[in-house]
Amino acid sequence: MSRPARAIVDLDALRHNYQLAQSLAPNARALGVVKANAYGHGAVAAAQALEPLVPAFAVACMEEALELRAAGLQKPILLLEGAFTADEIETAAAHNCWLMVSNREQAEEMVNARPSDPLHLWLKADTGMHRLGLTPQQVPELYRRLQALPHVQGPIVVATHFAVADEPELDFTRQQIECLQQINRDLQAPLSLANSAGILAWPGSHAQYTRPGIMLYGSSPFATPHPLAAHLQAVMTLESKVIDLHQVAAGESVGYGRRWIAQKDSIIATVAIGYGDGYPRHAPDGTPVLVNGQRCPLAGRVSMDMITVDVSLLPSVSVGDAVELWGKQLPINEVAASAGTISYELVTRMPLRATRHYLHR
Ligand SMILES: *Cc1c(COP(=O)(O)O)cnc(C)c1O
Repeated sequence: MSRPARAIVDLDALRHNYQLAQSLAPNARALGVVKANAYGHGAVAAAQALEPLVPAFAVACMEEALELRAAGLQKPILLLEGAFTADEIETAAAHNCWLMVSNREQAEEMVNARPSDPLHLWLKADTGMHRLGLTPQQVPELYRRLQALPHVQGPIVVATHFAVADEPELDFTRQQIECLQQINRDLQAPLSLANSAGILAWPGSHAQYTRPGIMLYGSSPFATPHPLAAHLQAVMTLESKVIDLHQVAAGESVGYGRRWIAQKDSIIATVAIGYGDGYPRHAPDGTPVLVNGQRCPLAGRVSMDMITVDVSLLPSVSVGDAVELWGKQLPINEVAASAGTISYELVTRMPLRATRHYLHR
């Protein structure tokens, strides 16, 4: 009846991956990072699955936090980029959100605010990423000023973000860790450094709070195999079906732009998935596609609603056969690498049309 393209989201796998993040850093509290619609998996469903396990969630902005509140989620929610406008300080206080303070402007707004409830703050230190955060020199002074405010509750957490933790052979992450420890020598604040790559590859970064994102969704943050990342379970499986088959003679072309030309007589399967479902339009010929559980090469440009796959080597193939674009059997990192991007981008760009179906709610 209906178009077969859909994303299956396995919430048991999500919980498994969270527990792995937690067990790798047993003395830290792992926030559940569910920004960008839980990396495309559906923020409310993902947060509901994680809520019994996490001390708090993390999102990018107030709109994302309020979506969780509207759905009844109760755990604290850290806004990773803090308040974008001064009025968000009051909204954060009213909705049990923790605020990151990343620059002097946000710190001044916090000093001047009179929220109706006290707030938990995180202070972002720039230890080398040079994107957000206070300089190491600014942190101690602002930390003490903010901590003294009557509307600031509990110890402020000092956080930083890694630039290359996904490249464990580089020394830069160790320098960032050392920089934060240096900043904290006199403050003795609780610390948060590790993203997924930090959790998996940098035990010295675990500290009091970790912030796992991509690993929760079962994708390795590393470009090369990593023994701990091998324990992650894919959460999203993007699947569809073969909707047509074509005999293509040697020399004939397939699809827009006639990009793929048959080198020999071939069988082409048309699959109901396209860039309108989040499949990357830049995927080149040869990108793996699982048809009946067997790897077959993409053949021809990705269309909005369809792709074409060379299934000549399959012993048999029929209209209606199952196709996996990425997921349990085909790691998303392989597809992302083939298309010149990363799994983060593939999943966060999944449009609404790719309906999510949840397992183990
Ligand atoms: C998105 C984000 C994370 C999670 O990063 P992953 O690489 O997905 O684990 C952690 N911290 C901050 C500040 C972020 O913006």
